[in-house]
Amino acid sequence: MTAGTTQPTRWPRISKDLQDFPVVPNLADYDAVCRAFSWDGARRALSGLPGGGLNIAHEAVDRHAAGPRAGHEALRFVRADGSTHSLSYRELAEQTSRFAAVLAQLGIGRTERVFSLMGRSPELYVAVLGTLKNGSVFCPLFSAFGPDPVRQRLQLGSGRVLVTTRALYRKKVARIRDALPDLTHVLLIDADGEPEPGTLDLAMLMAAAPGDAGIASTQGEDMALLHFTSGTTGTPKGAIHVHEAVTAHYATGLYALDLHPDDVYWCTADPGWVTGTSYGVIAPLVHGVTTVVDQEEMDADRWYRILAEQRVTVWYTAPTALRMLMKAGADRASGHDLSVLRFVASVGEPLNPEVVVWGREAFGQPVHDNWWQTETGGIMIANFAATEIRPGSMGRPLPGVEAALVQRDENGKPVIADGLPVLVAEPDAMGELALRAGWPSMFRGYLHEEERYRRCFAGGWYLTGDIAKRDADGYYWFVGRGDDVIKSSGHLIGPFEVESSLMEHQAVAQAGVIGVPDPVAGEVVKAFVELRNGWEPSEELRLDIIGFARKRLGAAVAPRMVEFTTALPRTRSGKILRRLLKARELGLPEGDTSTIETPQEAP
Ligand code: ATP
Ligand code: MG
Repeated sequence: MTAGTTQPTRWPRISKDLQDFPVVPNLADYDAVCRAFSWDGARRALSGLPGGGLNIAHEAVDRHAAGPRAGHEALRFVRADGSTHSLSYRELAEQTSRFAAVLAQLGIGRTERVFSLMGRSPELYVAVLGTLKNGSVFCPLFSAFGPDPVRQRLQLGSGRVLVTTRALYRKKVARIRDALPDLTHVLLIDADGEPEPGTLDLAMLMAAAPGDAGIASTQGEDMALLHFTSGTTGTPKGAIHVHEAVTAHYATGLYALDLHPDDVYWCTADPGWVTGTSYGVIAPLVHGVTTVVDQEEMDADRWYRILAEQRVTVWYTAPTALRMLMKAGADRASGHDLSVLRFVASVGEPLNPEVVVWGREAFGQPVHDNWWQTETGGIMIANFAATEIRPGSMGRPLPGVEAALVQRDENGKPVIADGLPVLVAEPDAMGELALRAGWPSMFRGYLHEEERYRRCFAGGWYLTGDIAKRDADGYYWFVGRGDDVIKSSGHLIGPFEVESSLMEHQAVAQAGVIGVPDPVAGEVVKAFVELRNGWEPSEELRLDIIGFARKRLGAAVAPRMVEFTTALPRTRSGKILRRLLKARELGLPEGDTSTIETPQEAP
């Protein structure tokens, strides 16, 4: 079977001139930094607990609160009306200690699970870090989940405590409470002295708790976080992470996000997903920077306003949000002063080259794609601030991360010989992306799924399930998830390449591409297309898009069928659910839809 076409090459590489940098980049010479790097060295940049051991919250908060940065603004919350409310490192240390003391008083011990179900309110950040200080395990849930996904996750994770709001409790938890015997305490952040039956008033408990309790003496290998995957390929899995992960949060914050002490950093990810915790809470705080938190949902004008008014210097967002901004038009950025913004990064889905380049029009910066998974706990492959971008490529492995591509057999299974994966050696060939096991934020298990966890590893490598290519210079190019790769007339076609080409058509805002069974070709490519503002579906436009794609990709790879849609099915973390497009197309069961974002709720 031959590989599909190569990645789009018509996008010129974007080189960087170090003279233009307002700060000295943390990674300027990729090879030199990689050679000098060791995880032990990164670990030594952290302080560790005074009596030995390691605790994420100590690295993120207390060590700053005990030093000259105590008064530095740690978190800046932007309310609906644009006004802000801040917490310094000192205040955050005190509040998180109070939260930890509340848990201790409630009898919640080490490794017991504390869940959250709420939006980006200050209490969420206090709860994440306070839970870690108590040595308990934090598991964030997306506040838009319905009662079923909430119940499933609380049951699976044996949640002892849930921190939530009155409205969310009434709507989603009260009636399933009987099905949650492990859930002994529900803490309402807005009880206002009158908790619901069966709940407690968090503010009252916090006020009575000491603000200077110590931190549990956790060790690096103690469980710290439980994160459910996005459910793009099936039922979400519960990935277990440990305190040692903070070493990777620190190193990736340094190199992949280029964080500097005076940065004002904004991560738009929802706290319900791993990005919202690893890079919405932990990494920036470990670096002692100021983190902006928008308490509202996405809105193009609001976002440009926040970037400008809060003087954001480093911005971490997602392709789906960038594509929505692009759909709204770069002119929405005009009139906003984004001159201090120096680095824009994106994660979660393949980032179409067109979006990378468009960033310059809207933000004055290209967008830097990076790749990782819930399982990897931190960024593994990235385009760095000071190194060349090849639009459409997710970049190169982080210092300390060893990546490889593993050959796949006719059935798409990784080829293993004598217990070792057989690696792809030649450039530009496809394989399953694998990472040498052992980086600090690697997941330590899938909750209650030991066998599934074991199956992810072969001969010391973690197999990611994603298909990629690597060019001769070591840049990785995402092809698709293993399950999404299309086999058509002897070609292996990655949906991302087809989607990116379609997006280059002036009418196309987003596209989702699947393989549909065909008696002759095996599978043929079908595209679902969302149009940009101002365009209407028509037969003429449909044929024009097909013709356009043929010219770019060739007849063997271009979609045979194009269907217009107003809202591609997406997960709440913004990923296109190709498996759902396919199931609907073929009239098959939809499978787990707990993480789907319903179209009417799309921002
Ligand atoms: P599930 O494992 O439940 O199916 P999921 O894989 O979508 O869900 P996450 O861990 O949130 O859950 O997402 C990681 C996946 O997202 C990666 O394996 C990859 O498929 C995709 N992804 C993340 N970043 C990128 C990127 N920069 N380019 C391409 N794909 C990306
Ligand atoms: Mg996954």
